[in-house]
Formats: sequence, structure tokens, C-alpha cells
Amino acid sequence: MSLVSIVIPAYNEEEVIGESYRRLTAVMAQSDCDWELLFVNDGSRDRTISILKDIAKTDSHVRVLDFSRNFGHQIAISAGMDYAAGDSVVVIDADLQDPPEVILDMIKKWQEGYHVVYGKRLKRKGETLFKKLTAKLFYRFLHSMTDVNIPVDTGDFRLLDRKVCDAMRTLTEKNRYVRGLVSWVGFSQTAVEYVREERFAGETKYPLKKMLRFATDGIISFSFKPLKIATWAGCLISALSFLYLLVVIVQKFMGQTVAGWASILAVSLFFNGVILFMLGIIGEYIGRIYDEAKNRPLYIIQEEVGFHHDKPEENQR
Ligand code: UDP
Ligand code: MG
Repeated sequence: MSLVSIVIPAYNEEEVIGESYRRLTAVMAQSDCDWELLFVNDGSRDRTISILKDIAKTDSHVRVLDFSRNFGHQIAISAGMDYAAGDSVVVIDADLQDPPEVILDMIKKWQEGYHVVYGKRLKRKGETLFKKLTAKLFYRFLHSMTDVNIPVDTGDFRLLDRKVCDAMRTLTEKNRYVRGLVSWVGFSQTAVEYVREERFAGETKYPLKKMLRFATDGIISFSFKPLKIATWAGCLISALSFLYLLVVIVQKFMGQTVAGWASILAVSLFFNGVILFMLGIIGEYIGRIYDEAKNRPLYIIQEEVGFHHDKPEENQR
């Protein structure tokens, strides 16, 4: 019987984690596969970890990785993939926004031979208009900025075959945009459509700041276009400046020089703004190069619960 690993990242999810466990177990019991539930506690400051440990005591399907601090959603997913033992790996949020029942459809597609089955959101319920709008715009913007074909309106809710999971594990970059990496590794991919539900309880763990960081990672990890835009904007602005210089010289010879304080100030402010913006773009890239150069491990695990194998050394990266 094939084994399906379900990776569930959780950050301050005490209100939902028990219910997620029950729903996931009920769903997997209907499948014809064996399963393990691999919870990754991403440095929660509430009771999430103690609830998870209690569950692990009573159910041998359950494994828990406890991070030493909050490393972030994408890293929690990556750790789950490192430790998953299954023939396929499903990633699902802890908050039941992605209905666990869809996993059965994913498994069916996988058994038909697909290597990646991603969930495509037809609708998002219970999220603010702002979030829906920014998400919609972002996915389309990302699509136009990158050469890798990242499907729009998909999240990290997806099933990966063992082969894909192994391929993912060879990608060691630190600023991880997992759904982009899954597209990058290739293999045969297909979608199942679903309606994204409201959070079962609790609040989003993605405040605007995290969302922005996530969006920048998505664009910068998969595109040089911002740098190209900086170059082209630089060229265009230089050309325009040269034309303006000609105008100024002509005016000088025609004796039309005026006080000109306002125009000089406006031009200078504009160009300083543009230059700082370009520097900012370059800085985003350099910051990420710096992160790679430091080569710190992606995450630190303070405790593993419910694993029956010896500690997989090669999993530490
Ligand atoms: N999450 C995490 N670490 C974080 C933030 C979020 O592990 O730093 C988890 C969270 O517990 C949830 C999933 O990532 O299981 C998605 O987060 P959330 O539901 O808050 O995001 P949203 O659905 O609002 O985009
Ligand atoms: Mg959510």
C-alpha cells in the first residue's frame, strides 16, 4: 500500500489544529493509502505544540517537527518535505481553508500518473476584498514577470510525487517561494479545482508585511526583469536628460536664462527618487545573494516527535 505524507505547517493555530487533525484523519481513512500527518510547528507562541504532542501520543500516524523559532510558512513546508517518508507528499494549511476532502481527488490524479497535482482556487471565501484583489493582481503580475510558468490562483495546497519531492530537496535556496520552485522542477502537472473556504477559526498569520516579503521573494527568485527594467529606465532617462540639456544650451545662447530654481529642484528630486528606487531593486537582489553566501541552515529543529526512523542526517541542510 502506498504511503501519503501530509505536511501541515502551523503557526499559532491552537484553535484549529485539533479539528484539522480530525478532519484529515477522517478523510485519509476513506482513501486506499496509508498515511502520515507531519505537523511542522513554526515557533508558535500558543498551545499548538502541546496539543500536537498530545495527539502524537495517541496516534502513530502523527509526527511533529518543532522549530526552535518562527522561520516562516515556506520554510516550514520545506522542512516537511525533507522529513516526509511518503510515496507522495501533500501540503495543506492548518486552518482548513483548503478542504481536506480535495486530497482524495489529488490522490486519484496521482494514481492516474500525474507527478504534481495542484489545487486551483475557483473562489476564496471569507477573505477581505483587499486580500483577494491584491492576490489576484499579484499572481497575474508575477506571471508576466517570470519565465517559469507558475499557474495563477494556486497556493501551496498540492500533491507532489516522491520524485518531485526529491527534486525539490536538491534546491537549496534560502529565500523560498515553494510554489514557484514546484513549477520550476517540471514533471507532469495537473490541477484540481476547489473553493477556498473561510478559516475554521483564528486569524490569518500573513499580515501585510509578510505578504509583501512573500511577493518580493516570488518575483525576485524567478525573474531578472526588475533589473532589466532598471537598466531600460536608466537608458530612457539618460536620453531624455540629454535632450533637455540641448534645450538648456540653446536657451543659454538665446539669452533666455531664467532663475530656474523650481525646475532644477523638480528635476533633481525626480532623478534622486528614481536612482534610490533603482538602488533599492539592486539591493533586494544583493540581500538575497548575501543570504545565500552565509549558507546558514534553512531551519533549526528543537524536537522531533513520533518519527520511527533514525534521525535522517542528510535532511539537515
Ligand atoms: N504559517 C506558518 N508560519 C508563518 C505563518 C503561517 O507556518 O509564519 C502557516 C499557518 O499556520 C497556516 C498556513 O501557514 O497553516 C497559512 O497561513 P494563513 O492561513 O495565516 O495564511 P492565509 O490563508 O491567510 O494566506
Ligand atoms: Mg489561511
